[in-house]
Amino acid sequence: MDTFRLGRTGLQVSRSGFGAIPIQRLSFDDAAVLLRRAYEGGINFFDTARAYGDSEEKIAYALSDVRAHIILASKTMAETPDGFQSDLETSLRNLKTDHIDIYQFHNPAFLPDADHPLYRAALRARREGKIRFISVTNHRLDLAIQMVRSGLFDTMQFPLSALSSAEDLALVELCRAHDVGLIVMKAMSGGLITDPTATFALLRSLGDVVPIWGLQHLWELEQFLALEADPPALTPALRTAIERDKQALAGAFCRACGYCMPTCPAGIQISTAARMSLLLRRMNPAHFVTPEMRALMEAAARCTDCGLCKAHCPYGLDTPALLRREHALYRAYLAEQDATRP
Ligand code: SF4
Ligand code: SF4
Repeated sequence: MDTFRLGRTGLQVSRSGFGAIPIQRLSFDDAAVLLRRAYEGGINFFDTARAYGDSEEKIAYALSDVRAHIILASKTMAETPDGFQSDLETSLRNLKTDHIDIYQFHNPAFLPDADHPLYRAALRARREGKIRFISVTNHRLDLAIQMVRSGLFDTMQFPLSALSSAEDLALVELCRAHDVGLIVMKAMSGGLITDPTATFALLRSLGDVVPIWGLQHLWELEQFLALEADPPALTPALRTAIERDKQALAGAFCRACGYCMPTCPAGIQISTAARMSLLLRRMNPAHFVTPEMRALMEAAARCTDCGLCKAHCPYGLDTPALLRREHALYRAYLAEQDATRP
């Protein structure tokens, strides 16, 4: 697989990276098969986080013996220097390594300046050789722009896909101008995009950005390796498909980032409930009419409209209204199914 220089880090990363959220759902041995196949297929960049359960341990389980040949990125959501230190030590232990190449502040709600205790903790970790590059992830475009411009971060991780707006895509040029490596998360828009070809072609057309595909199944990985072997150009037909997708998914749609969910006092599974009609349309609907899914949607109907989720949504969605709409659509869908059942 081709590699390219990831901004000022100078790291040569594979064009496709591995996003290690979904391997939490796999056994250690199944995760190892997937990670090993990715490595053998040419992927050398693996992105995980302290917040992703046992993902770090699974990466170490699968790839410790080739540590010298891979680039590891992890993240911390720590809010204090002690928390930062503790997260970093845990990640180093879990990943069975003496250093993490790219260590990211995980979606902070503010821009830490160079004198901020958290940033100073990162500088100390870099001096001690425990991390090589200080980086950041974010979902909010305005904050991401400030972070890139600040000069404090070597890479930026931001959600981009075939559904991204022109404003979001302009971040690519800004990163290039500041020599900040751009790591792309949620390139499949949280599962809304089901055919990766168009989003792959679009991201490839942008130049030096590395999507970290969230992978759970070997067939998904093989799909991306096949695209890497023969990268599709962004043809007029693919542009048309992108525009069609944008129109079908236009408006307020939940990106399934999950950032609002810890705030919900009612424990509602917002990232599923708020996009149920899309899931019914774009995935196998049989998976979404199970007793568990019906219970999940009935729980969504108990939303008290407290507004906490709305205040935490980086996309400015009116989440309670979205939940009401999705619940009504779901009820209508079930009624229609019942009516047509022989
Ligand atoms: S508005 Fe509803 S979904 Fe949002 S946090 Fe409050 S109870 Fe939960
Ligand atoms: S409602 Fe907003 S914050 Fe919550 S999962 Fe969806 S996009 Fe993310």
